[in-house]
Amino acid sequence: RAEEANSKPSADNLRSPICCIMGHVDTGKTKLLDCIRRTNVQEGEAGGITQQIGATYFPAENIRERTKELKEDATLRVPGLLVIDTPGHESFANLRSRGSGLCDIAILVVDIMHGLEPQTIESLNLLKMRNTNFIIALNKVDRLYGWKTCPDGPIVKTMKQQSNDVQNEFKMRVKDIINQFQMEGLNTELYYKNKKMGETLSIVPTSAISGEGVPDLLLLLVLWTQQKTMVERFMFSNRVQCTVLEIKVIEGLGTTIDVVLVNGVLHEKDQIVVCGMQGPIVTTIRALLTPHPMKELRIKGSYVHHKEIKAAQGIKITGQGLEHAIPGTALYVVGPDGDLDDAKEAAMEDMNSVMSRIDKSGEGVCVQASTLGSLEALLEFLKSPAVNIPVSGISIGPVHKKDVVKASVMLEKRKEYATILAFDVKVTPEASALADEMGVKILIADIIYHLFDQFKAYIDHIKEERKKEVADEAVFPCVLKIIPKYVFYKKDPIVVGVDVLEGIAKVGTPICIPSRDYIDIGHIVSIKRNDKEVDMATKGQAVSIKIAGTNPEEQQKSVGRHFEVEDELVSRITRSSIDVVKANYRDDLSKENWRLLVKLKNLFKIQ
Ligand code: GDP
Repeated sequence: RAEEANSKPSADNLRSPICCIMGHVDTGKTKLLDCIRRTNVQEGEAGGITQQIGATYFPAENIRERTKELKEDATLRVPGLLVIDTPGHESFANLRSRGSGLCDIAILVVDIMHGLEPQTIESLNLLKMRNTNFIIALNKVDRLYGWKTCPDGPIVKTMKQQSNDVQNEFKMRVKDIINQFQMEGLNTELYYKNKKMGETLSIVPTSAISGEGVPDLLLLLVLWTQQKTMVERFMFSNRVQCTVLEIKVIEGLGTTIDVVLVNGVLHEKDQIVVCGMQGPIVTTIRALLTPHPMKELRIKGSYVHHKEIKAAQGIKITGQGLEHAIPGTALYVVGPDGDLDDAKEAAMEDMNSVMSRIDKSGEGVCVQASTLGSLEALLEFLKSPAVNIPVSGISIGPVHKKDVVKASVMLEKRKEYATILAFDVKVTPEASALADEMGVKILIADIIYHLFDQFKAYIDHIKEERKKEVADEAVFPCVLKIIPKYVFYKKDPIVVGVDVLEGIAKVGTPICIPSRDYIDIGHIVSIKRNDKEVDMATKGQAVSIKIAGTNPEEQQKSVGRHFEVEDELVSRITRSSIDVVKANYRDDLSKENWRLLVKLKNLFKIQ
């Protein structure tokens, strides 16, 4: 390993920065990546652009060539740029590698016609959480009405060719979007007007269809890596920094892990440690693979084997026991003098920090995400005071039957917690069927706060269902006074006009007369107000009510014989009726009515 010994970190030996593309669905992330990838026909094959595992590599020369119209001296000190291939996959922007974000820089794509959208905000939050620098691509400028296409043109030059109307609409939309960012607490400005790069985020107008502004975008990425403060970040180091992107089963290879090697060198037969759901996985690298450089062979799935690979690179690794590896975690190499236990501990660190967020009470929903990073973001969100949903279990990867079984434990304790919040993961048909059968709810979304909205709606639904179930047992407090001239029927059923002195009189409420030895006279079976049937009457209203006895004894009770019009009619409450109201109707009673309930509780001498 002579090479390793020689390569002390130095400004002459830099690795490629890693970039990812984020933003709301349909803003043009995929198109933009395609457009950046598009190579000049004259340049032949691929202009040095290479397809890697999970990423595309852009050599410095290619970027220099494409930005030369903008700035002659835009030299890249780094060898190139590595762009993660799965745009929009929030999880990737949120991958960690040794505590910081895996991505050195991100491009946040915003549709100029739509402005900030839900996933834009979510991407912003992820970027903030990981402290990742980013550039805003204000995409689809070609959709401005009357846009004159200037293929691959620099944006300032292109803008000059546009009519006044187009320019005005453009200005108006940009102003609006800058305001929207301001509301999110971010200063932004068109990059060519931005005097305070760093403090103020740069906006680059682009069209992923005709390529306007794309050179500007590339130039900005270049300038960003050129900053003096960045050199250290990109210095090549022997210390392997590597993040697991995905676990894939490949025919002929078995389980493989796709990784991004951010820094350092990986060798065949290196002993590695990766984080697994059941603990650290220790194995050796059986093969280091990259896609075949020739397109035709790539389709057949043949890979190039390497003895060693230097960062930065997207690589496929095969080795035993990797099927339980967790995407989004760091891979560690145990060097010749390295300590295996240290590596194991380090590998599990991220996982342990995530595990520590699980609710200690053991009551809560189960959450599942595609990577450790996105799981962490989800847990963070669920914990925030405005959301506050407890979590009892976590998992990474698709939802399987075993996950449903795990979540079903909550059915006994709190039905609404027998829920799996699945963020950006698939649910197997078997798991789905089992969940239906057992009564476990699986909520799926690829925007974190949609999960919250769904969960909230689900809880409200459960509450309503339960309210219906216990409606007969829930007695609201009320005190009624008969209006003497409105005694229509004295008994069986009693029909009288009453003033509601206090509380809520509901259909179904059992009524008794405390002043006459607490005799029960039946239930309210109907209420009429202004000749219309209603479900309830509240304090201050005058209504006519029908009270029917539910047993022969009650049916005998009559106004003028067993009680008088002066006697107050009061809801018959019991210990269990109070409990039902407390558990299910807390929000349905005002403070005043809660006080009345307490008053009646004392009146009925309930403990
Ligand atoms: P993603 O979901 O963010 O990856 O969006 P896509 O790249 O799939 O683009 C969504 C749609 O917008 C597709 O129909 C694209 O053709 C279209 N689109 C993307 N970029 C542009 C653009 O710059 N101009 C116009 N007119 N359409 C675009």
